[in-house]
Amino acid sequence: MQVIWQEELNYRALDQWTREIPIVAKRGKITDRNGVVLADNEAAYTVFARSNAIKDKESASALLADALDLDANWVYEKLTKKKASEVTLAKRLVKEKVEALSVLSLDGVYYSRDNVRVYPKGDALCQVLGFTSVDNVGTTGVEKYYEEYLAGKNGELLYETDLVGVEIEGSVATYLPAEDGYNIELTVDYGIQEIVESALEKVIATSSPASAECIVLDINSFEILALANYPCYDLNSVPRNDAETLNKQSRNTVVCDIYEPGSTFKIITSAANLEEYARGNPNAYSPNYVFSSSRTRAVDGTTVKCWSNHANGKHSNQTLAEALNNSCNPCFTDMALALGSEKFYEYLSAFGFGRKTGIDYGGEAYGLLLPQKAVRDCDLARIGFGQTIAVSGLQLACATASAVNGGYYYTPRLVKRIYADDGYVLKETKPVLKNRTVSVETSRTLAKMLEGVVRDGSGKRAFLEGYGICGKTGDILTTCVNLVKNLIKIHT
Ligand SMILES: [Zn+2]
Repeated sequence: MQVIWQEELNYRALDQWTREIPIVAKRGKITDRNGVVLADNEAAYTVFARSNAIKDKESASALLADALDLDANWVYEKLTKKKASEVTLAKRLVKEKVEALSVLSLDGVYYSRDNVRVYPKGDALCQVLGFTSVDNVGTTGVEKYYEEYLAGKNGELLYETDLVGVEIEGSVATYLPAEDGYNIELTVDYGIQEIVESALEKVIATSSPASAECIVLDINSFEILALANYPCYDLNSVPRNDAETLNKQSRNTVVCDIYEPGSTFKIITSAANLEEYARGNPNAYSPNYVFSSSRTRAVDGTTVKCWSNHANGKHSNQTLAEALNNSCNPCFTDMALALGSEKFYEYLSAFGFGRKTGIDYGGEAYGLLLPQKAVRDCDLARIGFGQTIAVSGLQLACATASAVNGGYYYTPRLVKRIYADDGYVLKETKPVLKNRTVSVETSRTLAKMLEGVVRDGSGKRAFLEGYGICGKTGDILTTCVNLVKNLIKIHT
């Protein structure tokens, strides 16, 4: 038996002779791009007992209960449990408690140091950061997505014990050090995040919406500079016992939920039309073409209407730039129908609709896009102005950025660097180009038109002298205006 089963028996014996006390690895920090700490650790202690090593269980129970504010009967039950050789008596204790306990120097009582997650900024960026379980494992958000880097590897302190778990006098303890987790540096700029969050607070105070969200994306790299959702919660007191509230407050709606974008989607229709015009497609409209002033279009036996009643004469004789200024629905219906579903869908696909952007965040939404083969003209007519299609806030932000940045569609990112405490950089992310959407020239033409929307059109209230601001209104214009102005203030 010794010869054939040597390895297995040796392993079993080792397991019986030694007892481990875990040494918890330090979880990596999460900071913003400028080093502002958003997730950190605080020391906390766990107390174990090995009942076999405790002679007088009754008096030990009383002493432990007193020192740890526990019920003596509960402790006694734990210590006398037949099956467990080792029991955990208390977790997340402050140092003072453990020091008070160590003065008693009770046999068979041990403690280990843990790290408890703390979030110095409370509810800031809560859906992005996510939280950890009571055992310090990432459960949502960046904490979950980057768990393998943040977690590190626990170490161990091994003691030789006798058969019943009593430490052998004079035995040598073996120490296997813990490997600390890597730190994560986000692409987020906390200064911008604060502005965004206070803007959302104002929106909520004035308009009491069911929810509100905002994303700020660097259009030249697709780095996410700020991302906020309302309602939110304090990461230091996660509502773990109320699943419904927790789900509502911890959901990153910008990334994971979809909505019908409406007028903001007209940017995409314009981009497709302009690019096709530049390529010589005879069905595309020239930037100088004057669209019919009629308020309605009859498509497939249904009527597509403009949101405006066209009574004030503003929506008559419009070029594409003017149609964008006025956000006139039927002009975009004309463009989508003229391109046809096959061509228009090529652009929807290039702009990332109906598929994940590939952001480094779990549970991303695909959006809703009717299959091209099933799309009828009356659907296509409405997709042209952002109805009969559903997108995530992130998808729309990326598509819009690509429409005005020269036609480059990158993979959006939340994490910039993964690095160790000693400065060693494990990973550094660079912009990854996924595909082109439109040409540089088309993108420039479109950007000029969208500047017009802010200078002369429906986005006037976001105009700021001396800055080139592209914009397109949807139903939520008012709420965006002050935000844009504040963002510009902080960057000058
Ligand atoms: Zn109109």
